Amino acid sequence: MLIVQTIAELKACLNGEREQGHSVGLVPTMGALHAGHASLVERSVKENDVTVVSIFLNPTQFNDKKDLERYPRTLEADCELLEKCGAQVVFAPSVDEVYPEPDTRVFSYPPTDAVMEGAFRPGHFNGVCQIVSKLFDYVEPDRAYFGEKDYQQICVIRRMVEDLKMDINIVACPVIREESGLARSSRNTLLSDEERQLAAHIYRVLSESRKKQMSVAETHDFVVSEIDAIEGLKVQYFSIVDGLTLADVSTWDDAESVVGCITVYCGAVPIRLIDHIRYK
Ligand code: AMP
Repeated sequence: MLIVQTIAELKACLNGEREQGHSVGLVPTMGALHAGHASLVERSVKENDVTVVSIFLNPTQFNDKKDLERYPRTLEADCELLEKCGAQVVFAPSVDEVYPEPDTRVFSYPPTDAVMEGAFRPGHFNGVCQIVSKLFDYVEPDRAYFGEKDYQQICVIRRMVEDLKMDINIVACPVIREESGLARSSRNTLLSDEERQLAAHIYRVLSESRKKQMSVAETHDFVVSEIDAIEGLKVQYFSIVDGLTLADVSTWDDAESVVGCITVYCGAVPIRLIDHIRYK
């Protein structure tokens, strides 16, 4: 496995692959890798001749600088995991390599990027589009792999790819969960054992809400009140939306696919956790 830090090295090694007609898969990550990331990498390894994994803690998508400071950094362990998964190239650039100049580009895809995470983390998806468009530019992948864990992110990236007419297949991969049901996340390492147990209630309540055959409004209120009733958890938002556009729905028949997206604060610090569930 080749580990490169510069765009020039990355391009040089990919040019060689492309000359041989090899397909390229890209898995963008921010490091602190776990089984969720591994599932994306393994899928890319199966579907492409060469898999590039980027590890870059992208400052432009963090609206909360404290969140960026405390984000776990585990490059050595990450590379060991990627080697086991069969990745061929790790691209781990510095901030100066990616942003020699401040990125002033503005991406805007309402309502998809304006609601939920877009509303509560101003500038977040602009930063995501800045880095992902740069990575697409450097790597020119045939396929790029993203986790449904960040459901809204996939919807925004699909809009960007459409908008910029990029010839890249966006592959959405299912959420990998801990045994308790908690969605695996790099931020879970910031939770105490007790907080981790609390956090498992998020998916338990979401799953329960699917079985109840309630209206959209009742489902919304059920999820928020059940989670808020647990000490140490506080819902920031729970939105039941069209699974494609992310516009709110008021009945189950309003859209072909309907998804509930939630963000919950957990524990003392507190740590912000996101999850979602598909209703139809
Ligand atoms: P991150 O390092 O958090 O930016 O995540 C990099 C990629 O891994 C994103 O496409 C995430 O959606 C995906 N990912 C993170 N956690 C999971 C998970 N538990 N299951 C599936 N994909 C995940």
